[in-house]
Amino acid sequence: MKIDILTIFPEMVQPYLDGSILGRARKQGVKLNAVQLRDFAKGKHSQVDDTPYGGGAGMVMQVEPIDLALKKLKSVFRKKKTRVIMTSAAGKKFMQRDAQRLAKDYDHIIFVCGRYEGVDERVEKHLADESFSIGEYVLTGGELPALVMSDAIVRNIPGVLGNEDTLKDESHDKPGVLEYPQYTKPETYKGWEVPSVLTSGDHGKIAKWREGHRK
Ligand code: SAM
Repeated sequence: MKIDILTIFPEMVQPYLDGSILGRARKQGVKLNAVQLRDFAKGKHSQVDDTPYGGGAGMVMQVEPIDLALKKLKSVFRKKKTRVIMTSAAGKKFMQRDAQRLAKDYDHIIFVCGRYEGVDERVEKHLADESFSIGEYVLTGGELPALVMSDAIVRNIPGVLGNEDTLKDESHDKPGVLEYPQYTKPETYKGWEVPSVLTSGDHGKIAKWREGHRK
């Protein structure tokens, strides 16, 4: 699996790709790459945005640099199952089932990070396969959404989490089903007790308690 994040701020994205679960995914052979969109701009100022047709505030990211970048990224990593994902506050809401599907069905995912007032609509219409929002609020750019989605996707790639059982009982693994409460040592803290069934050693009772206490 390869994930490319197309952005004008690769230096913001790269450190997160190198750390945490994403860093571990890299050690498992998952390639994670922040790609500078300006490298695909034609003018000598590497401009990737311009004023909106019809007037209005702010700047809009142009279609051409994104088109050229996508072509290049697809030609460098020539896998058949590529998915181009637009980050958009107006996209459909990204869900765990999307993370599971993308991890399973594709071997190259390219995120396009918008900035400014957004991205020329022709990117979504002609170049992107789907468009996702990570929630009903507006962020300054698509970098955090791309990282959030990358993290959720790579957790679902076999071998990335040390213990595959971690995925099985996690919240949202099945739609609408949440995790049960977790506790660790000490058994008592400021008089706050761990439920005694969890220290009983009776696995049947523990499983039943957990099922009945899902959040
Ligand atoms: N004018 C746009 C609108 O009203 O929908 C918002 C543009 S926003 C300032 C700049 C970029 O941040 C967007 O093009 C998108 O890539 C990204 N973005 C902002 N909020 C997002 C969200 N909730 N989910 C995914 N991407 C988001």
